[in-house]
Amino acid sequence: MYDTDCPHPTDAPAEDRPMRTSLRRGWRRRCPSCGSGPLLKGYLTVRSSCTVCGEDFTPQRADDGPAYLTILIVGHVMAPALLWTFTTYRPDPLVLATLFSVGCVALSLYLLPRLKGLVVAIQWARRMHGF
Ligand SMILES: [Zn+2]
Repeated sequence: MYDTDCPHPTDAPAEDRPMRTSLRRGWRRRCPSCGSGPLLKGYLTVRSSCTVCGEDFTPQRADDGPAYLTILIVGHVMAPALLWTFTTYRPDPLVLATLFSVGCVALSLYLLPRLKGLVVAIQWARRMHGF
């Protein structure tokens, strides 16, 4: 179907990038290409390239996507839990506020880098390069 002597290399078919594997690797904050190199430098900074396979990550820009998803998930988990806890146990307001403040911060800190890895993995798998 494709001419191997194609004079235009950009017309060559791109290799397959499986979404499910990329998502799993992104959630684990690993390179979506090889799965072994770390994707993030520090807590949230995306590396410029993979230290193992050399995949270029400079075009990948997650922007506000991971923060939006984190707020969406934490809000939808913690708001019903807050209501249920209040109506079921009627705890002291200071105890309730302290517990849910710590819980919201902890869940956000857990989810944010993983969702960033997920967004970068989706961009990488679908060749969305933020230009
Ligand atoms: Zn890699």
